[in-house]
Amino acid sequence: MQIIDGQIKIIKDSRGNNTLEAHLLAKEGDGKNVVALASVPAGKSTGAHEAFVLDPKKAFDKFSEIKNNFLKINFRDQREFDSLLIALDGTQNKSNLGANLILSLSLAFARAWSKSRGIELYRYLKDLSDNQKKLFEDFPRPLFNVVNGGAHVEIPQSWDKKFGIKKGLDLQEFQVIPTVKDFGIGLSVGQEFYKKLGKELSKIYDKENVLLGDEAGYVCPFKTNEEALEIMQELINRHLYPLKIGLDAAASQFYSKENDLYTIEKSQMTPEEISVFYSDLFDRYELISLEDPFDEESFDDFHRLSDELLIQKTSNQSKKLIITDDLTTTNPQRLKEAIEKKSGNAILIKLNQIGTLSETIDVIKMARENNWQQVVSHRSGETMDSFIADLAAGSGAWGLKSGAPGKPERMAKYSRMLEIWKKENVVF
Ligand code: PEP
Ligand code: MG
Repeated sequence: MQIIDGQIKIIKDSRGNNTLEAHLLAKEGDGKNVVALASVPAGKSTGAHEAFVLDPKKAFDKFSEIKNNFLKINFRDQREFDSLLIALDGTQNKSNLGANLILSLSLAFARAWSKSRGIELYRYLKDLSDNQKKLFEDFPRPLFNVVNGGAHVEIPQSWDKKFGIKKGLDLQEFQVIPTVKDFGIGLSVGQEFYKKLGKELSKIYDKENVLLGDEAGYVCPFKTNEEALEIMQELINRHLYPLKIGLDAAASQFYSKENDLYTIEKSQMTPEEISVFYSDLFDRYELISLEDPFDEESFDDFHRLSDELLIQKTSNQSKKLIITDDLTTTNPQRLKEAIEKKSGNAILIKLNQIGTLSETIDVIKMARENNWQQVVSHRSGETMDSFIADLAAGSGAWGLKSGAPGKPERMAKYSRMLEIWKKENVVF
């Protein structure tokens, strides 16, 4: 496929910050020209080992410098295109061109490739990732982040006087995860739960004290992390919803390297003490997954907790997942280390942590080959691009994490999943 022309636009993400959207005009053989777009998100609780994000205005200028290097070349596949971008960048962490610029082009290339062949993007990604499963047989589950904490919330100043609360919950994400196989039903259940939870929280805290965080999860004057969990679990039990709970602690955010301590609800905990805190949550709530329970360098603490929860001793179908995000940053070397050190049994996949589609696919394959589940994830600052839905479905991931079903940029991914689910389930 040849790229005939390309442009970079600066658009706003869901937090109102600048980000990039790539537009490519491409052509396959004697076929018609196709236009393909892709935009990239941005994280806030970012891992130290993520690829570099270049200021969008600088990235815009960089694009003009490199554009001629890929026009009119006959690319044989995705990897050839991605490798050229990596070579043009020439750094370890993509700090020259920026992982945001490189990724926007890499994803637009994938769209152009599938479009020019008249195939669905997720079908192309299925091939690219060597996924042998039938798509509808083990379709990814949505992870709805219905209560927001950590770096994703801002607390009104008035809450200090009113409730003695200066900051949001320590744990970053409180998710509900449907246990039903049918994606459409799972989505409806998630949406209904989200609405009911909103009403319940309004009753408890008053409507004016129910706010939304970056990922559309609720933000209330909760006194403790468990207070939020208690309300969620009670609502699930009361209505017999087919939902389990997942957490993303994003623990690097409340960890102090100097003294190796985690600060939760004003008390300081050693890695051993916070492990007990987590194990207790697993015992008391219907928790099936826990992401980033420790700091991003703590491979051994991740291992100890995983071991204690018997995760390493159960099969691939294990009901509990310890998910690595900041620990592994969708990076093959970091995943290799995590696999060797048995630091969990699932990896969060974020395209912009590594910066090209090809490298992301390598990480997905490595995880699959080593019986680690994959959860494809959005970022807290998102666009309307739904690429990750195609990636989750096509690669056969365990789950797709795209926030609460309450803001358009989050819903764009769930809606695309539903569309794919329906396409794969036609009966004639
Ligand atoms: C996360 O930590 O999993 C997340 C989605 O947040 P961010 O995009 O801010 O890293
Ligand atoms: Mg995370």
